[in-house]
Amino acid sequence: MTPSDIEFDLRHIWHPYTSMTNPLPVYPVVGASGVELELADGRKLVDGMSSWWAAIHGYNHPVLNQAAKIQLDQMSHVMFGGITHPPAIALCRQLIAISPLSLECVFLADSGSVAVEVALKMALQYWQAKGEKRQRILTLRHGYHGDTFGAMSVCDPDNSMHNLYKGYLPTHLFAESPQCGFDSQWDPRDIMPFRTLLEQHSGDIAAVILEPIVQGAGGMRIYHPEYLRQVRMLCDQHQILLIADEIATGFGRTGKLFACEHAEIEPDILCVGKALTGGYMTLSATLTTRKVAETISNGEAGCFMHGPTFMGNPLACAVAKASLNLLLQSPWQQRIKSIENQLKSELMPLKHHAKVADVRVLGAIGVVEMNQPVNMAVLQHYFVSQSVWIRPFGKLIYLMPPYIIQPEQLSRLTKAVSGAINL
Ligand SMILES: *Cc1c(COP(=O)(O)O)cnc(C)c1O
Repeated sequence: MTPSDIEFDLRHIWHPYTSMTNPLPVYPVVGASGVELELADGRKLVDGMSSWWAAIHGYNHPVLNQAAKIQLDQMSHVMFGGITHPPAIALCRQLIAISPLSLECVFLADSGSVAVEVALKMALQYWQAKGEKRQRILTLRHGYHGDTFGAMSVCDPDNSMHNLYKGYLPTHLFAESPQCGFDSQWDPRDIMPFRTLLEQHSGDIAAVILEPIVQGAGGMRIYHPEYLRQVRMLCDQHQILLIADEIATGFGRTGKLFACEHAEIEPDILCVGKALTGGYMTLSATLTTRKVAETISNGEAGCFMHGPTFMGNPLACAVAKASLNLLLQSPWQQRIKSIENQLKSELMPLKHHAKVADVRVLGAIGVVEMNQPVNMAVLQHYFVSQSVWIRPFGKLIYLMPPYIIQPEQLSRLTKAVSGAINL
């Protein structure tokens, strides 16, 4: 990569959430292998982000590479309308086998946001088919569900700047986010704001959507399983569908295969994405119950009204199937437990630091919340100088490394976090 390549990038290419006139710097990466990213100048960085929850097995994994190559020589893509193929069937079989028991119908989509759109549309069509006009969605503050319009409408209104899109966005219901931490004593008052909203609007609410146990990009908050249990109970009482967005939490990240398992509940609709292909390419899935699928299919439209061009992309399905096998055949519980223990012992002491508001750890997720928003450009530069890749946002410096990370590599990450706080 030449300096003029970087110039071109600066001038012509959007990067996520940064200005086109005064962008944050970008670092050129030319390769990635195991838990390391390789910069154009040859430096290697230990990856603390799993490329946004996705690369759970690390990069350039021989098993996933092989799965992609084999599928590439069969066919990269073929339309899913009127056609089916072995990679999609094998993947959906596996997804149904490992997800909560009642979920048995799979819709394959292109990205997490689209999986959320699909889930919301399923809920709307479900009620339409039952002859009830229910169009509101109840969700939690500090949630994140994606950047498309439907998904954005259920993201935290302040974080995702709903005021920018006033008039375009449907207005949904937002309950205060849970305050009770994962390990704290359960306080029954925690569910009251949610319960009150749900009871006030129960006849209008088509579905509740939330991220079970860990609210990710909206604030990296980790809440009590009893909260989720009570949400399930309230949804049952009022026959409201529960959508669990496990796009970030799915596939082991929180220590359970799905975060819903912490509360021993089953959603009516489940969204997965991110780690589904082990971070190789974009693919997501929305799973639902036979009852929801049949109700939709018996409605006026006679079908579910969605069908992406690249639905069920064979290349993505083949890699996803290989990634799930790899995960299930690995000692993933043990690995995540030891990452959790190490994150706890190396990050928790930071809790007493004057600049730190809170430290939270669950599974392979470690979060340091600062009192003030961090200077991203300065911190990013510091982290690269320490040979680690950590991307903070807002007040949050957080780690979610690939599950294959070694203790010394993880210590490099936690040391860099402590160093950054003391800058
Ligand atoms: C990342 C994320 C999404 C959106 O997924 P994309 O693939 O970026 O569209 C939705 N929900 C949650 C919980 C996420 O973490």
